[in-house]
Amino acid sequence: MSPLSRRDLLKGAGSTALSLLLCNLGCGGEPQETARKQEPATTSVPEPPRYAVADYRGWEDIYRTQWTWDRVAKGTHYVNCWYQGHCNWNVYVKDGVAFREEQVATYPRTNAEVPDFNPRGCQKGACYSQRMYDAGRLRYPLKRAGKRGEGKWTRISWDDALREIADRTIDELRSSGPAGIVWDFGTANSNGCNGLGLHRTGLVLDTPILDMNAEIGDHHPGAVVTTGKMTFASSADDMFYSDLILLWGGNPIYTQIPMAHFITEARYRGATIVSIAPDFNASSIHTDLWVPVAPGTDAALGLAMAQVMIAENLHDERFIREQTDFPLLVRKDTRKFLRESDLKVGGADDVFYVFDRASKEVSQAPKSTLSLGSLDPALDGEYKAETKAGKVAVEPVFAVFRRHVASYTPEAVSKITGTTPDLIRDLARRIARAKAATSLTQSNFSKYYHGLEMERAQILVMTLAGQVGKKGSGFTGFPFISLGNFDALNATSGSLSPKMGMIALGTQMAPAMLKAKYNGDTTEMFIYNAAREAYKKGGYLASALYLHRVGGLDVNSGRSREWDPHIKRDLEQYVEEAIAKGWQIVPAMAPRIMFEVGGNMFRRVRGYDQLIKTFLPKLDMLVTVDWRISNTALHSDYVLPAAGWYEKDDIAWATTIAPFASVTTRAVEPLGESKSDWEFHALLLKTIQARAKERRQPTFQDRAKKERRLDAVYDEFSFGRRYTEENTEEFLGEILSLNTNLNGATWDTLKEKGFERYTDIGMGIASIGNATDMKPDETITANTWHTKDKMPWPTLTRRLQFYIDHEFYLELGEELPVHKDNPSIGGNYPLQMTGGHTRWSIHTSWRDHPNMMRLERGEPTMVVNPADLAARGLQDGDLARARNDIGSFEIRVKVSTSVRPGQVIVYHAWEPYQFKGNRSYQGILPAPLNPIQLAGGYFHLQPYMLTGEPGHNDRGTRIEVEPIAASRT
Ligand code: SF4
Repeated sequence: MSPLSRRDLLKGAGSTALSLLLCNLGCGGEPQETARKQEPATTSVPEPPRYAVADYRGWEDIYRTQWTWDRVAKGTHYVNCWYQGHCNWNVYVKDGVAFREEQVATYPRTNAEVPDFNPRGCQKGACYSQRMYDAGRLRYPLKRAGKRGEGKWTRISWDDALREIADRTIDELRSSGPAGIVWDFGTANSNGCNGLGLHRTGLVLDTPILDMNAEIGDHHPGAVVTTGKMTFASSADDMFYSDLILLWGGNPIYTQIPMAHFITEARYRGATIVSIAPDFNASSIHTDLWVPVAPGTDAALGLAMAQVMIAENLHDERFIREQTDFPLLVRKDTRKFLRESDLKVGGADDVFYVFDRASKEVSQAPKSTLSLGSLDPALDGEYKAETKAGKVAVEPVFAVFRRHVASYTPEAVSKITGTTPDLIRDLARRIARAKAATSLTQSNFSKYYHGLEMERAQILVMTLAGQVGKKGSGFTGFPFISLGNFDALNATSGSLSPKMGMIALGTQMAPAMLKAKYNGDTTEMFIYNAAREAYKKGGYLASALYLHRVGGLDVNSGRSREWDPHIKRDLEQYVEEAIAKGWQIVPAMAPRIMFEVGGNMFRRVRGYDQLIKTFLPKLDMLVTVDWRISNTALHSDYVLPAAGWYEKDDIAWATTIAPFASVTTRAVEPLGESKSDWEFHALLLKTIQARAKERRQPTFQDRAKKERRLDAVYDEFSFGRRYTEENTEEFLGEILSLNTNLNGATWDTLKEKGFERYTDIGMGIASIGNATDMKPDETITANTWHTKDKMPWPTLTRRLQFYIDHEFYLELGEELPVHKDNPSIGGNYPLQMTGGHTRWSIHTSWRDHPNMMRLERGEPTMVVNPADLAARGLQDGDLARARNDIGSFEIRVKVSTSVRPGQVIVYHAWEPYQFKGNRSYQGILPAPLNPIQLAGGYFHLQPYMLTGEPGHNDRGTRIEVEPIAASRT
């Protein structure tokens, strides 16, 4: 017998092992039977067992078979990953199951000077195929069987659920009217048919939709006050032209995972990266300079830098003369702008004046352009203006500001921020001297009570340095870009011929018209004005104010005066005044029916538990459409299963940071009985229409007391049955055929490629503010229409406006950007609780997914400095009680030296049911309304969709943390 070679042995052993493995994998009895019949090997080369003739070459093929598929479809994640999203993925399908996904690295490079966007994606998206099929996935419609929130359900058919819901909806429409029904769309909107399904439903039934953008704290009030708009952001690759990048108010390593590589690449190119944050966070690690700043003191830091720039004459006078209100004259007697109406009878309230050093006269500031022409406005000095009532003393805003900012010396501010004076000076000089400095701010400061001032101060710093609207520079507002005709589709009335309606409104969005003039205003102003007028009709409701008035949140959100020493009146007086003057719009009637379609109100809202106590009992019916049991679903009367993100066709919304429209496609059939959002809305309206006919109740009165057909709502919704639940792809094709800014993409081409780069910003209300031309081979730099083309900013003064002479601003001492200490919200407790979006989930979508939970501690945690832990007798991993005047919750503490003493962090979006007693950190957040955000009736200070309304806050809420006996793990 010749000896076996090592190779032979391995070969034989491999075959045996393979046979066992195959048996373990469920090959049945056949391999064992085969093995019994097999003769022992008697030769030097053992005979392979019979099953080895199968189509594999060795053990590796077991794994290879796992990587075979029937088809590959394009997909993305229909979730609010906002600054990160959306990304193009290949979704691999086998036997009707989406079993894995892979990033598609085919994004084009904008030009040879900048890096490309590849690959785009994050670890959450990389495991969505597992999330989609995990135990938490809803498969069937459910009807509540026990008490609300008890978790007892009975299965119900779609037909029965829709009929019962439709009947109740009809009853409400015909008794209380449409105001008795409200929709909460949360953040799961889309640029295609699924988002449109909700907006058209609201339009057809005249039922209001909650605008939750301010309530979640993404409304950028300081940006709106200063620039007249919320939306503007440059593309991520524009950073490659920056030599100074400030991470000021964000942690992009957590929250912009697909984009973060640009920061690193810019750094390799030579840019200096600066992190300005209270904590030494995951992004700070990758920077050249960390500027520690106490929570909520960024306005003081900004004002100190402004003081340095002005004291050292580093500010860009040419830029601020042209682009800002600094040269405009203010009356010393009234502290208000000098207006034409002051000078002559019948004069305008929005014509302003400068002192022209050339003519030495008070001269009218140009309104239709930022170009100064021959004017040479003074920035300092005191002058006389001849008004209707005689001569008055006036001075430029800049002179007022120079005095105002003088007290914000680095030495004084250092006591507020904890940042050393030298560091403040150094940073101010760096920003002023940089060739191109940019600030990557995210939606963080809006979540502070005085966040409006923090944003104003940030924009002030960048403006004084002239770092706005030039390549590689700028300040990030709310990033968004939409299909050119998106708003038109939303607004198209069913009474119009559907195609004509879409075309008529869609072609208005043509890029050539973008800079057209409407009654002397720019297109940007025209759109904002139209949006403000539309908002008054009540299609969308300011969520925070609505829940304050009718949801019972006012017990805590109305306690502003208790904590804010600057308020001289009770909050309710400001609220009543704002409503009485028409500045804010909120109905007095509480709803009796609510549909939760894409959001999670009873997790999301600060003070959600108060809503469960006081708002939920007012609802006769709460319906949730979701793919998982959220806390809102848990408290609902009906829960309807939504299709997963690889189970429906749609176009995701996008931002100019990554200016690509991405698709998600129906790679597989919806699991169980789940349905897409578009199908749900179509079927609900179809059932309402059918039931209205059967019940002989053909009409209802809308909120304007006009009669509408109830027995035709589905026909109207579906554009005369042209686009229904059965032809989603055809509808998407139509949307794209009428679109203006996606390079002529059709649904077929988009579905095949997965994404397309936007060609211009479109004319959507949430998109127009980018105010820039887009070129295929250039990075996007926001706001160049203003800085290069001299198009006025959409503010009252048509300039970047730092002086606001609104009565609330004057009363509260905020006519200029100011620092105010973060109030002791929640009571007099030593710790400030802050937060931020987590690295391991997008909102709650992955919060309880094992893959993500095993990357952290697998349960809610609070990050605490070791000194604070020790002072309280706590150790890492202990369960602790956090409490304040509002309530308490229990949470495990996690020690980290990256968090400063006095600050604790709870990262975002744990579900209440992940805490003991269903009490999450959101339950002790009173989110008091700041009256400054109620100001209105002032051209650009008026509510419209997504902003201009009061928002909620959570950052810096005061708490104490204490041990719970015997909690140590
Ligand atoms: Fe991209 Fe968002 Fe999906 Fe992550 S979750 S891969 S950021 S689309």
